[in-house]
Amino acid sequence: MHEPSILRREHFDQLLDALKNRGYQVFGPTVRDGAIVYDELGSAADLPVGWTDEQEGGAYRLRKRNDTALFGYVVGPQSWKKFLHHSAVRLWQANRSGTKLQIGEERQTAPKMAFLGVRACELHAIAIQDKVFLGGYFVDPLYKARREGAVIVEVNCGQAGNTCFCASMNAGPTATSGFDLALTEIIEGADHYFMTEVGTPLGAEILLEVLHRPAEQSEQEKAVNIHARTAQQMGRALDTVGIKELLYHNYEHPRWDDVAARCLTCGNCTMVCPTCFCTTVEDTTDLKGEYAERWQRWDSCFTSDFSYTHGGSVRATVKSRYRQWMTHKLATWIDQFGTSGCVGCGRCITWCPVGIDITEEVHAIRGNGRPTKAPAEKDDHGNA
Ligand code: SF4
Ligand code: SF4
Repeated sequence: MHEPSILRREHFDQLLDALKNRGYQVFGPTVRDGAIVYDELGSAADLPVGWTDEQEGGAYRLRKRNDTALFGYVVGPQSWKKFLHHSAVRLWQANRSGTKLQIGEERQTAPKMAFLGVRACELHAIAIQDKVFLGGYFVDPLYKARREGAVIVEVNCGQAGNTCFCASMNAGPTATSGFDLALTEIIEGADHYFMTEVGTPLGAEILLEVLHRPAEQSEQEKAVNIHARTAQQMGRALDTVGIKELLYHNYEHPRWDDVAARCLTCGNCTMVCPTCFCTTVEDTTDLKGEYAERWQRWDSCFTSDFSYTHGGSVRATVKSRYRQWMTHKLATWIDQFGTSGCVGCGRCITWCPVGIDITEEVHAIRGNGRPTKAPAEKDDHGNA
């Protein structure tokens, strides 16, 4: 049992160095093209220092904070699946010479990766993808290699966004397991530090290489208060009581026509979703027929090709595709994997170009009004 520790901001680079010295490539949030994305970090200066994000249905904007928070934002368009479940993977290549056919298996590498800044909802999403890729009869070897080698430094959210609803999905905003280290960022004027919890023996070893001290009771209480305040700030909520039966009994609800009139079938919601895992395969050959490749690529249930079976698409209409996606996420996923397919990260709401809101659609099918809470007014630090 490790007591919580305090890691001061001025020593934060030691954490990155400790990870790098152990041979890990450190990936985390950074600002690029007006958004916070995940990429390789050289030092803490690469983090979104002093930036926060504002989100609403179909809207995302970065703005400066009045402090130098390293993790003062919610989540961006990318999730950790881009590292664990790549968007494009070559499965094999084949060469033909005369009548001889040679198939070359791919040797996929799995670098040692450290994920810094993983949110609680994202930890739950990784756990869901673990079930998909590792929990069944067929194990994805590439996912397995990447996942087993990954170190996770979780950072509890210090504020929630307008499209967040992880609290109602029991997926956040505070992590209780699944991490090697978990941090809560605390800023009080010039006093800037991280309450640090150890989740695994590896996390404890890494922390030993970083200057830290035991957390005082008052500092632990401050972290608990931040966790509670963030849970209260959720911009949205999803009532999950009986949700599986609700959706199973409402395949013909008129709301599916309503949402179909708005949905563009662009597939953004599936691309940004940290749990969506569907793929397709693409074969290409050269013009001489001597060389061929097979690629696995992310796919979306919003394309008509996705359900194409011997002569036609099973889900030919927009209505059937949206209904399939939402019913899978919130109902059939439970039968398939034993959990919901949604962790309430809000990305599908923010990055839907027409602002379709999964929480609003569920409430409409329940026969209730608009479910969203009025966003709490926030100060310049993003605090309600
Ligand atoms: S369905 Fe939407 S809110 Fe739920 S996990 Fe996926 S992107 Fe996040
Ligand atoms: S719900 Fe929104 S993001 Fe998803 S396919 Fe329709 S328009 Fe695109």
